Amino acid sequence: MPEPDDIIAAARAAGVVGARDGMPTHVELGESAEIVIANGCECEPLVFSDKYLMAHHAPEIIAGLELAMTATGAQRGIVAYLNVDPQLDAMIRVEADKRTNIDVFHAPGFYPIDERHTLTYEATGRAPTHSDGAGVIVFNVETLLNLSNAVAGTPVTHRTVTITGEVADPKVMRMPLGANISDAIERAGGTTAKSFRVLLGGPVSGFLVDDMSTPITKTTAAILVLPTYHVQIQKRARSLAVMLLRARSACFQCRECTDHCTRYLVGLGIEPHKIMRAICYSLDSLNTSITSAIDCGECGVCDSFVCKMGISPRLICRQIKAHLQAMGWEKPPNGKSAGVRDDYVARHISIDELVERLRVRDYVAAADLHAILCADAGPSFQPQSITVPLLQHIGAPSLPAVAPGDPVEPDQMIGEIPEDKLGARVHAAIGGTVTGVGREVEIDNSAAGAAEDAGGAEAVRHNLPT
Ligand code: SF4
Ligand code: SF4
Repeated sequence: MPEPDDIIAAARAAGVVGARDGMPTHVELGESAEIVIANGCECEPLVFSDKYLMAHHAPEIIAGLELAMTATGAQRGIVAYLNVDPQLDAMIRVEADKRTNIDVFHAPGFYPIDERHTLTYEATGRAPTHSDGAGVIVFNVETLLNLSNAVAGTPVTHRTVTITGEVADPKVMRMPLGANISDAIERAGGTTAKSFRVLLGGPVSGFLVDDMSTPITKTTAAILVLPTYHVQIQKRARSLAVMLLRARSACFQCRECTDHCTRYLVGLGIEPHKIMRAICYSLDSLNTSITSAIDCGECGVCDSFVCKMGISPRLICRQIKAHLQAMGWEKPPNGKSAGVRDDYVARHISIDELVERLRVRDYVAAADLHAILCADAGPSFQPQSITVPLLQHIGAPSLPAVAPGDPVEPDQMIGEIPEDKLGARVHAAIGGTVTGVGREVEIDNSAAGAAEDAGGAEAVRHNLPT
């Protein structure tokens, strides 16, 4: 087993970040913990990326969990997931049973069990304190796979993405970072809707994107194609300005958003109904109701499931968080947690109830989970060009390490962490020539593609085993 410092250095060198939140993993590995949890509890309907990885990459994921335990000094590891498929369960159990300090936790099936504080409480009985995670660090299973690869010298260049909804062939694919939404939909057989729009993410937590050239990043878990008239599209089509007006004029302070808020229920200070009240005066004020938005985990329960007035506390919290982060505001470290609320269990949302309320049952029925998990990913997709954002993580954008006209090899670092800043390196998924550098690095490999067509086929990289 490598030394802790070597594991942290490998994660930094390979550009590993949290597959959900984009937090640079080398920073989290530098903290100490008693328990590390591998989070495979993906519970949002129509998202299968983590399940797919666990069914295909259990050895690397458990090895990544061991590496994270070593780096943080944790004596205990837990691999947590929903027991929804026998193959997936068998793959994980075989690996976990080889270790005495790693337990399997079959998580209860409610939304959002994959939220880190909720999962920590369910798996360990520990509620979050105000300023830390109760001695527990939670890593997504893709992050742990990437950590395992990083220690073997392979950087992060691909993301596991579910493409589902109104597509001919719903599936999970390993997509090169910098490939675009249009590429992904095409590889899922194209859309079946006459008129469609796209959510980046699942039906609860996804955000609307209309630019089909939007690139896949390290945090893109899913692409959901829905008809334009779908209720989840209509809800998200409202702008922030409209949402603020609606909050100021239509919120009748029923506090349902607070009573169901995932982060409130585990004891954090956020109370979305009070935020809605406070923004009537000013979005920029720093009173405690406004700053409590920093605890919002953007789970989407308040807007996708709860608010009957069509208000999105999530969108407003997101805006406040961006504002607080831009001004360098930091959460005071001396507060106390209220502890898990009395109605925590009563507020659980079953996945079935969620599917019904979101109106996605037809798409869930069309997506055969076992078939998707067992599918052969086939050769990795090799696009002719990619546009790789230099900011795919929490922190400062990476500095370009290449210039227009430079040749680039697959896996080459193209973005470096600015000195003394929080950030993550960025690497190229394909070889080619740099055609543009700005907030993104554009790479074109048409010449290599032509050579391949002429018979010089290069070995296909990053295949997933079947
Ligand atoms: S659920 Fe909607 S109406 Fe009720 S307090 Fe929250 S934002 Fe206001
Ligand atoms: S999205 Fe809504 S329910 Fe979820 S943590 Fe944020 S405020 Fe709470």
